[in-house]
Amino acid sequence: MIRRRRLRATENMRALVRETSVSISDLIYPLFVIEGENIKNPIDSMPGIYQYSIDRLDEELDKIREAGIKGVLLFGIPAHKDECGSEAYNEHGIIQEAVRYIKKVFPELVVITDICLCEYTSHGHCGVIKDGIILNDETLPLLAKTAVTCAQAGADMVAPSNMMDGHVAAIREALDEAGLQNTPIMAYSAKMASGYYGPFRDAAHSAPGFGDRKTYQMDYHNPREAMRDIQDDIDEGADIIIIKPALAYLDILKTASMETNMPLAAYNVSGEYSIVKAAAQQGWIDEKKLVMENMIAIKRAGAQMIITYHALDVARWLKEEQ
Ligand SMILES: [Zn+2]
Repeated sequence: MIRRRRLRATENMRALVRETSVSISDLIYPLFVIEGENIKNPIDSMPGIYQYSIDRLDEELDKIREAGIKGVLLFGIPAHKDECGSEAYNEHGIIQEAVRYIKKVFPELVVITDICLCEYTSHGHCGVIKDGIILNDETLPLLAKTAVTCAQAGADMVAPSNMMDGHVAAIREALDEAGLQNTPIMAYSAKMASGYYGPFRDAAHSAPGFGDRKTYQMDYHNPREAMRDIQDDIDEGADIIIIKPALAYLDILKTASMETNMPLAAYNVSGEYSIVKAAAQQGWIDEKKLVMENMIAIKRAGAQMIITYHALDVARWLKEEQ
């Protein structure tokens, strides 16, 4: 008789035969940095997550250092927004200054900056608008400028998330021209027009003022189109591929892990985080069990990196288990 239970008999036996694991070095922690002074704003829809002004960032950086987390993904919230998102590519904008500060006090931390305009535009869309249309090619130079100013400020990597066609190529070319050949691009290649982003838009003040993002973010019915988008970004020079969101798109992550040999990151997004937090607050689930199961599911599907708001908790739990 075949007895699978032989290898499930004890915790140590189960540990020996385990096929998948998550480690602290897999985790990337998103941070929201807001212009101003002495600010630590809780985000109501994301318990435990805050917007920090640069002068209050140390509080969070200390926790990141203590947790052993290796990378952060920065989102900036400017004091003023305009039609073309000019604060995104201001060399002294909130994100560029946050990068300078973090690289000064915590140089070994891998600092990645989100490259998009929606946090910086008055209309909340990711590109320049004319007659209600989000313009593709007119947006590309602004994204390129954003990436160059972030890299010049010291960002270790840039992460274009806007889903304009040709964005990775435009950014690669601009980085190279600026002598930043060694700055990698982590591209949000398969980014779906998803309902899971709601809480993030509270956090980053980036809800679109009209319409939705379906003309540039992907239609989630189309897994084969996702593979084309991923291939485009590889061809344009992406160094790492992001699939976003994570949990509802594990099939796409799995296919990408089988069909490409690129490093893959999954973005475990705000809605996925808030659902777990809300249920945990109600006492309906065991937060740690669910989060760790989600982390393993993402790893099992083929991600090397997980961008997650749970990162500090996961790191703490992993340390406790050792
Ligand atoms: Zn955007």
